[in-house]
Amino acid sequence: MKTAIITGASKGIGAAVALRLNELGYNLVLNYRSSTASMKELINSFTNKETGNLTVQCDISCYEDAKNLIDEAYGRFGSVDVLINNAGITKDNLLPLMTEEEFDLVIGTNLKGTFNCCKHISKKMVKQKCGRIINISSVVGLCGNAGQVNYSASKAGVIGMTKSMAREFGKRNILVNAIAPGFIRTEMTDKIPKDMKAEMIRNIPLQRLGRPDDIADAVEFLISDKASYITGQVLSVNGGYYM
Ligand code: NAP
Repeated sequence: MKTAIITGASKGIGAAVALRLNELGYNLVLNYRSSTASMKELINSFTNKETGNLTVQCDISCYEDAKNLIDEAYGRFGSVDVLINNAGITKDNLLPLMTEEEFDLVIGTNLKGTFNCCKHISKKMVKQKCGRIINISSVVGLCGNAGQVNYSASKAGVIGMTKSMAREFGKRNILVNAIAPGFIRTEMTDKIPKDMKAEMIRNIPLQRLGRPDDIADAVEFLISDKASYITGQVLSVNGGYYM
């Protein structure tokens, strides 16, 4: 049975990916920071009851917490086939108003959190001589967005990190790719004012926000045997919003 770690799995995209990987028969190591009730609800909704599940509540922006997450995963399941770096936050503000704290929090979670988990799993995956890492970036890491200097920098950084890791680990049979979602309907986008959301949808060729399941589909493909010659790529799943 294969094992996957998903960070930020308590809701939104991470929860949709967890549900999919449960259906596919993966043992899951599910990380979250604070939403214990949502995590319990998620596990109760798993249809495949044959797999193992381990929840690890911790802050992936903390180097030691991330080490503990990876160590616990290996301690319980012995090996890990897939790491999905999904946990992320926004703290939007126009640059003149953006505080140092808003910048540091977003970079700390989205960029350093991804580094932390990749760093701690890297030696273990190298020893295994196989693995798949999927980093969840964002369309705004590719095209930028007013009010998201911190967030877009973090997500562009994740893309650079993905490509560098793909080059370092290709010869070890570890494939590293990024997914750049467009605007997906989750708590993160629920915060966006209605009129702004309507304007966004007008600019999406497919004329709708994405669903968390649209991202789960991309993850399912990238961790499958059908993607065994794909590494260092950024798969855009954005309804055509940015081409
Ligand atoms: P969401 O619904 O707000 O969920 C975020 C998840 O990340 C939650 O499970 C949260 O856990 C977890 N998390 C946040 N900070 C954490 C930390 N320091 N340590 C551990 N877990 C942490 O967000 P989403 O929309 O599903 O987004 C998931 C990923 O997709 C993010 O990386 C986001 O940037 C990216 N993305 C989203 C969109 C979109 O339109 N929604 C578009 C592009 C990219 P708790 O709730 O338990 O704290």
